[in-house]
Amino acid sequence: MSTFKAPKGTYDLIPPNSARFLAVRDAISAPLRNSGYGYIETPGFESVELFARGVGESTDIVTKEMYTLTTKGGSELALRPEGTASVLRAALEANLHKAGNLPVKLWYSGSYYRYERPQKGRYRHFSQVGAEAIGAEDPALDAELIILADQAYRSLGLRNFRILLNSLGDKECRPAYRAALQDFLRGLDLDEETLRRAEINPLRVLDDKRADVQKQLVGAPLLEDHLCEACKAYHEEVRELITAAGVVFEDDPKLVRGLDYYTRTTFEFVHDGLGSQSAVGGGGRYDGLSEMIGGPALPSVGWALGVDRTVLALEAEGVELDLPATTSVFAVPMGEEARRLLFAKVTELRKVGIAADFCYGGKGLKSAMKSAHRSGARFTVVAGERDLAEGVVQLKDMESGEQTAVGVGEIIAELEARLG
Ligand code: ATP
Ligand code: MG
Repeated sequence: MSTFKAPKGTYDLIPPNSARFLAVRDAISAPLRNSGYGYIETPGFESVELFARGVGESTDIVTKEMYTLTTKGGSELALRPEGTASVLRAALEANLHKAGNLPVKLWYSGSYYRYERPQKGRYRHFSQVGAEAIGAEDPALDAELIILADQAYRSLGLRNFRILLNSLGDKECRPAYRAALQDFLRGLDLDEETLRRAEINPLRVLDDKRADVQKQLVGAPLLEDHLCEACKAYHEEVRELITAAGVVFEDDPKLVRGLDYYTRTTFEFVHDGLGSQSAVGGGGRYDGLSEMIGGPALPSVGWALGVDRTVLALEAEGVELDLPATTSVFAVPMGEEARRLLFAKVTELRKVGIAADFCYGGKGLKSAMKSAHRSGARFTVVAGERDLAEGVVQLKDMESGEQTAVGVGEIIAELEARLG
């Protein structure tokens, strides 16, 4: 071990486990890549102000969880705690919304940072795959995103997740609801911080996980009873479209999310095998965000799915991903001449797209064969002086144990044929 350890609340992805993370990222993004979403990558840090305005001054993310720093030049930066504000900032900066092709559909994948109390499923560095559809108000777009996330989870073999759905209303109907909720909250027996929250962002009190708070919230006014006609119709259309697509969901009238920018459609994906860190992903519509960060009105919708928790959910369900073998052919040379020949063959195999590896370090046959087994290769190619004198190499099928001599000139074609 070195003198250093990974910082608190972080962990390293190392083989063979890391392959599952790659597969999860791939599976989550596959439905997006297949649905008109283009890949976007933004910096790992942004101006603090972008998140303060875009995520919300009163959110836990901004008040407690952000890693901020002052550069030598005096700029206030923050490691990104989430993706939406950055993606929207980048789209606006590149004028993607002016190209006359709305919505702008983007997907991303990367590292996010939040200074949280580390526990299982909650880390200070974690990874998300996300999608944003910018510049269109259309219930079919909200439905598309929910359907694609559902498809992503199902393609991984996850079954025990639930989709919670709610509408947070819009600037027409939310203010009146907000006031009604505030009135209700003021009458409760809440601690100081929660009372303060009730004044700044009362909807978020609904999201309080503490049992004593939840007990008091039983009779709270619900947004569904305060939605304006337009929001009601919009929400009904989203529900119908996802139902028609066969997506099973639950209406959750108390679902709000930790970020301030959500309007109308709001959803969360939860997995019941994860204990208290049960949210594997979430998202919703954020019609006002663009204006909040200085852009034009651009109604938009998006989601972010957590890769770390998705991997934990797969473990909780005992799902084994069907991961492709990393190595199909392992080459074991015995002697200098064989070393040159097999090294060239391995290069050739790789060029034709066969995953191949080589026994480095001049190992003896016994330990070389151990490496071959460990590599998971389906075939091993062994060659020694005597083989080369006869113009052959030994091709060993690692499943059946059967070994055959194959001409040096035919080995590539033979392996291509056997590996199909
Ligand atoms: P939670 O309620 O669990 O704090 P959140 O509402 O803060 O989640 P979002 O901002 O919606 O989470 O992020 C989307 C997804 O990213 C979450 O559903 C989760 O899978 C993942 N995620 C968020 N924070 C963390 C974290 N600290 N560690 C690991 N994954 C995280
Ligand atoms: Mg959180």
